Amino acid sequence: MQYFPTFLFALVTFLFANGCSTSGVTEQLAPRSWALAIHGGAGHFGEEDLSAGQQAAYTESLTAAVEIGERILIEGGTSLDAVEAVIRFLEDDSLFNAGRGAVFTAEGVQELDASIADGATRNCGAVTGIRGFKHPISVARSVMDSSEHVFFSGHGAGVFASALGHDTADGDWFRTEKAYQRYLRAKRRAEETDVLADKRGTVGCVALDQAGNLAAGTSTGGMTYKQHGRIGDSPVIGAGTWADNRSCAVSATGWGEYFIRTGVAQDVHARMIYGDESLGEACRGAIFDEMGALGGDGGIVALDRNGKIALVCNSAGMFRAWATPTDSGVAMFGATQEGTVEVY
Ligand code: ASP
Repeated sequence: MQYFPTFLFALVTFLFANGCSTSGVTEQLAPRSWALAIHGGAGHFGEEDLSAGQQAAYTESLTAAVEIGERILIEGGTSLDAVEAVIRFLEDDSLFNAGRGAVFTAEGVQELDASIADGATRNCGAVTGIRGFKHPISVARSVMDSSEHVFFSGHGAGVFASALGHDTADGDWFRTEKAYQRYLRAKRRAEETDVLADKRGTVGCVALDQAGNLAAGTSTGGMTYKQHGRIGDSPVIGAGTWADNRSCAVSATGWGEYFIRTGVAQDVHARMIYGDESLGEACRGAIFDEMGALGGDGGIVALDRNGKIALVCNSAGMFRAWATPTDSGVAMFGATQEGTVEVY
């Protein structure tokens, strides 16, 4: 009997090290040839907040996005191309807070952030506060591929993107009634409450390709009614996005200030590489013990180099989907009141 606690500890350690799931999904025992996971934002929403029609629309879009990435990976394409293509699709879908449909700042404009990271070279690219570009993720990719720098902001980012011929559109393309009404509501509430709490719909993707390379990307309009010049975690490498073939690829969504303060995406990497934690343990620690402990909320989608997937949030909901050579899934709501820890 006195051996029982030791046995229990060993069992829990084994399950985390080998890919257990708190939502009852399969263990992963062998490395996968490719894998992909995406998110479409996290927030305080439950089943009662979305109509059946809205749930169907999100499911359809998340499924289509995953299929785009899946096709690229099955055909032997790179994880970077899969991440970029998936996020471009989601940026075009006004359901999400990225590209078209992005939220409005306090000034009533849309300022977009994005970043992308390459696990093979540990190169990366990011842009913040850009206006009028349809696909901020592709501008971030150009920063990585076609400049000597990793991070451009505002006007300079626009000049750089224009010189490379990135697609632009006028305000009508980006503006949706839903985002505008959220802005007006936030504006009315601005005096009395914490309007930054209204956030949902950032998009992100992590992928492992058949060559064994990891990549991650994130794109967002930020938070409704954000102050002019405010930068969230999404374009900040190490906070909202991270990829390193030695450990993991991570894309985050949630209350950006907390993700920056605790360096969530790099925290997952550090826990794995220096602390020898499994992907599931590292994601749980970064979200619950660090970011969440400070009072933040949100989640991450992450992959390790064997194609193990972790979808972890401490918010009530996170739009998420994933695919591997043998399985796929879509989910929106929390596995429990406290959030979700899913390891596939
Ligand atoms: N993380 C984003 C930001 O703080 C917002 C979100 O993911 O909902 O800008």
